[in-house]
Amino acid sequence: MAGRFIVVGAGVGGLSAAARLAHRGHSVTVFEKGSEAGGRNKEVRLGGCSFDGGPTLLMMIEPFRRLYSDLGECFDDHLDLRKCEPCYRVFFSDKTTFDASSDRGTMASRLTDVFGTRAPNSYEAFLSDVGALYRDAIPNFVERNYDSPLDFFGPRQLALVARHGLLGNLAKRVARYFDDPKLRMLFSFQTMYLGLSPFESPWVYSVLAYMELGEGIWYPIGGLPAITRSLERLGADRGVDLRLDCPATAISGGSVTLANGETHHADAVICNADLSYAERELLHTAKPRRAKMSCSALVLHIAYRGSLPKLLHHNVFFGKDFEHNLRQVFSLLEIPDDPSFYAAVSCRTEPGRAAPGCENLMILIPCPNLERPFGSADEQTLRDRVFERLAAETGFEPSRCEAVGVTTPNDWKHDLNLEKGAAFGLSHHLTQSAYFRPANRCKTDPKLYFVGASTVPGNGLPMVLISAELAVQRLIAEQGA
Ligand SMILES: Cc1cc2nc3c(=O)[nH]c(=O)nc-3n(C[C@H](O)[C@H](O)[C@H](O)COP(=O)(O)OP(=O)(O)OC[C@H]3O[C@@H](n4cnc5c(N)ncnc54)[C@H](O)[C@@H]3O)c2cc1C
Repeated sequence: MAGRFIVVGAGVGGLSAAARLAHRGHSVTVFEKGSEAGGRNKEVRLGGCSFDGGPTLLMMIEPFRRLYSDLGECFDDHLDLRKCEPCYRVFFSDKTTFDASSDRGTMASRLTDVFGTRAPNSYEAFLSDVGALYRDAIPNFVERNYDSPLDFFGPRQLALVARHGLLGNLAKRVARYFDDPKLRMLFSFQTMYLGLSPFESPWVYSVLAYMELGEGIWYPIGGLPAITRSLERLGADRGVDLRLDCPATAISGGSVTLANGETHHADAVICNADLSYAERELLHTAKPRRAKMSCSALVLHIAYRGSLPKLLHHNVFFGKDFEHNLRQVFSLLEIPDDPSFYAAVSCRTEPGRAAPGCENLMILIPCPNLERPFGSADEQTLRDRVFERLAAETGFEPSRCEAVGVTTPNDWKHDLNLEKGAAFGLSHHLTQSAYFRPANRCKTDPKLYFVGASTVPGNGLPMVLISAELAVQRLIAEQGA
């Protein structure tokens, strides 16, 4: 029987849940606070250039293919993908650079050239172990709803935990494969994609290294926001009613109240707004969850006059003391003295995204979340430190910045309602992962489900697509839809 459902929030999680429900013949309305869809995955336009607003790395294509196929479509008919090869260039503080590759032969010869003859063997052992972990962890711990403790603590799951040492510390495990501190950084920093320090991460998140080095990094023409636009179209074709500039103020028993005072009723609601924020502000939960949030990020979008040929499409810069840098971000809540950061120039792959004579430079600097206030002096300090490094190693000249757009932790909080400005949502510490992560059904409201980065399975576009799949599966089973 066709039902009526409301989705609050038009991020990638909300859009894909809406499209899945509408494809089954249900009536779906999406209420989005902002004036465009996409949430973190939006396009930024500035100085004649186009930028990815948040995500820039497309990895783990399988959940994307599955979504499109479940909707009776073919992913490759909708998105024109290019492989990023090399995956990215790494700049170490001693001026060594390294171009990482998802081609094993290329990677082996580059490792030999830069790190010596033992490095390729260590890398092969590492990649083989994280590949095996990936193949076991994704179906058994990620692509599933936990209905009972036995789903996690059952004999099969516990055997996998023990076999892979899933709960061990990631940085320490990586150190068993590699002696060189630079290689340790190279094969552990990927947890930063979750806003999680590798020094505090369980080994299970080494699957991220496998996703990019074992499978590769992709780029859809039009940038990552092309995914948002495609999901919007798929929903519209199936009758999804997307209403922009409609912030919700309360959700209860299948009803959603909007800031304009209207109340809309449905058989059930899926909430895509950040879970911790939603529990406090929309559900008015009496006892808010004591959640640990990910770090935040200062993001700069720069229309740069001229060219920075030393930069590839994706680039990672490590500070001198990576561990201290991350301690400052995650524990000491300080502005890092020598920040590690990421820089993207997507016009390297798609020249049309930059204005003539310009490059579209995006810089992402991990920084503490709003557990501590973030002010304009912090922004200036980080910007100066990063510009100094770029000037020394890439020939970057600040005077050539034609236009600069800035997203601070305060913006993540105010624009998208991300709790504590945590750009990557709820942290992925052990006690907030898998079975221990907040479930996609609300304990106090049987007509409310959650989708997105702060519920199961977690942060990142593929995980958010899986979260929509799991939430819709559960809603359909429980609401008899
Ligand atoms: C800087 C940055 C870089 C990233 N890089 C990558 C990457 O390279 N690869 C990758 O896979 N992932 C990356 N991520 C993670 C990825 O962007 C997120 O996991 C994903 O976009 C989250 O989608 P979502 O649907 O859960 O949430 P969101 O995108 O946050 O969407 C939630 C939506 O809910 C809306 N909303 C909030 N409150 C209300 C309300 N009261 N009423 C109505 N609407 C409301 C918001 O406006 C928003 O549109 C990155 C994230 C950031 C911030």
